[in-house]
Amino acid sequence: MIKTSKIKYKIFIIIFLFIANANSQEINYNQLNSSSDNLKTSLYNNDNYFSGGTSDLPYFQGKISDLYIKFYKSTGTIVIFDFKSKTEYLRVIEKIQSNADFRFKYCTDYNEPIVYNYQTSRGNKIRFNYSEMRVSVEYPSKVNSFLESNSDFTSVFVCVSKGAYAYHTNLRCEGLSNCDAKIAKSNIKEAKEYNYRICEICTTDE
Ligand SMILES: [Zn+2]
Repeated sequence: MIKTSKIKYKIFIIIFLFIANANSQEINYNQLNSSSDNLKTSLYNNDNYFSGGTSDLPYFQGKISDLYIKFYKSTGTIVIFDFKSKTEYLRVIEKIQSNADFRFKYCTDYNEPIVYNYQTSRGNKIRFNYSEMRVSVEYPSKVNSFLESNSDFTSVFVCVSKGAYAYHTNLRCEGLSNCDAKIAKSNIKEAKEYNYRICEICTTDE
């Protein structure tokens, strides 16, 4: 008897959380770690958003927070979240930092912001930088996995001095600021051939 009521209570809580989630305008981590179709469905079913665009590539506008979410097609599906509230943006960033795996910081131009690259457990790639309140999510696709297998040609940087041992994905890395020789642009494949290994600062989110 006690057991049944416990189960009923649990089911009640789960349903309650589900409803609370479905009607909330706040973006939660599960939405960032789901498929793009599930995200789309959850947004269409949420009364807090106006929607437009096509059913394949829709956009959603938050009624209260002005959060703008747009589906794009690039090599695969990409969803861009444009936040209007700094608090909300930083709250989502914090969720990403505590739940997703940090991959690397990326920057190939001193005038460009450093892009933070994360990956979720289902393989979604999350990117953001601190100069705009925008989060992008790229979903796994066949084309993307093909490109991933060619990631050897991703641009990286090395300090061409005798003591240097690391290659950097972030041109503005502290590890490169001490370089007293030339900084050369290379790619992962070539850097590895010269026995450089990936920089620890570039692959640590701090
Ligand atoms: Zn570095």
